[in-house]
Amino acid sequence: MAKIEIDELTKVFESAESEITAVNKLNLTIDDGEFLVLVGPSGCGKSTTLRSIAGLETVTDGTIKIDDRDITDAKPKNRDIAMVFQNYALYPHMTVRENMSFGLEMTTDISDDVIHDRVRDAAAMLGIEDLLEKKPRSLSGGQQQRVALGRAIVREPKAFLMDEPLSNLDAKLRTEMRTELQDLQQELEISTVYVTHDQTEAMTMGDKIAILNGGELQQVGTPLECYYQPQNQFVASFIGSPSMNFFEVTYSDSDKQSTLDQEKFKYSMSDELAGQLGRVNESLVLGIRPESIDVTDTQAPNALEVEVSVVEPLGERTLVYFDIGGETYIASLDTDVFVSPGDVLNISFPEEKLHIFDRATGNAIWNPDPPSENRVMLRTGTSDSV
Ligand code: ATP
Repeated sequence: MAKIEIDELTKVFESAESEITAVNKLNLTIDDGEFLVLVGPSGCGKSTTLRSIAGLETVTDGTIKIDDRDITDAKPKNRDIAMVFQNYALYPHMTVRENMSFGLEMTTDISDDVIHDRVRDAAAMLGIEDLLEKKPRSLSGGQQQRVALGRAIVREPKAFLMDEPLSNLDAKLRTEMRTELQDLQQELEISTVYVTHDQTEAMTMGDKIAILNGGELQQVGTPLECYYQPQNQFVASFIGSPSMNFFEVTYSDSDKQSTLDQEKFKYSMSDELAGQLGRVNESLVLGIRPESIDVTDTQAPNALEVEVSVVEPLGERTLVYFDIGGETYIASLDTDVFVSPGDVLNISFPEEKLHIFDRATGNAIWNPDPPSENRVMLRTGTSDSV
């Protein structure tokens, strides 16, 4: 267990032709035993951040501390950190047992008996006891990934660093391993930084997620905070699937009614929302998640008539594509709404689910309240519960 503190971390890659700032003034704290997921699009600086923590990159500026010890310039082997890679990085000529024990034998003076016990315990935890005498080439991808995890576990490190460890697995195994990894991490209580470009993985695995873009931190929070309260349009579009719909609108006040005016519609706002939005004529972006769009009747306030272009039934939900002003948008509807391409549908955007952003900066001005605990019905087990 350890606390990792990253302070103003900057990494610039310089070559004769170019200078790339892969990570720019990153501040991040991973608490004792926490599972933090670093997520963002390709090239946003996730791996560089992880490699800097591991000591595989020299940093240009900033500091990295583990439990208050400055390790910014420490050698990788002196950081007490174990890294798990996407490609497993197992030695092909060694058995599973040898792969798991090799690092400890080479870099520590831990006795053979203790190493043997640690390998046995980790193998039992991962369900790979019967593979210990096999070579990696005879194992499936999932089994190889378990061995790579086992090799990290036997080191009993202060922290795990994982770089897209599940991306080589097929979809089903990936989902299974996600849960397994989370269980394992909770059992071991080892602080973990996990890199992925997959927002679903981030949402489902992390105690906290840190979203990067262009080397800069966009937001850190619990998955649900980032979903309900994105600090900017980038986070709003990156978290959630399908992505949030965005409309360029202008705030206007006429005939005592405040509206958000889009090329094709005017959205009437409550006084409360209008009061939050600042100046008239301001250029804003209205955001609505596909799953927040309602199907309604023509009389409903702010109802919009749209023609369905594509329907994708997913089983649990149905994705419905429609155009407004030449742009395509998506609604994710309950499966009891039956629609076909060409149908005309009345939809509405409930005000309590709107997100509003400043168009110039992309910063959020208004976000919906997350569901509060007292809105969740809990069975108490008392005699009057249903
Ligand atoms: P991916 O998901 O594709 O792995 P990432 O978010 O992990 O991307 P990084 O690998 O950290 O991104 O790269 C961040 C930026 O730094 C990219 O523009 C990349 O091209 C650049 N970069 C990374 N390593 C080097 C290097 N050794 N030399 C030069 N540029 C590099």
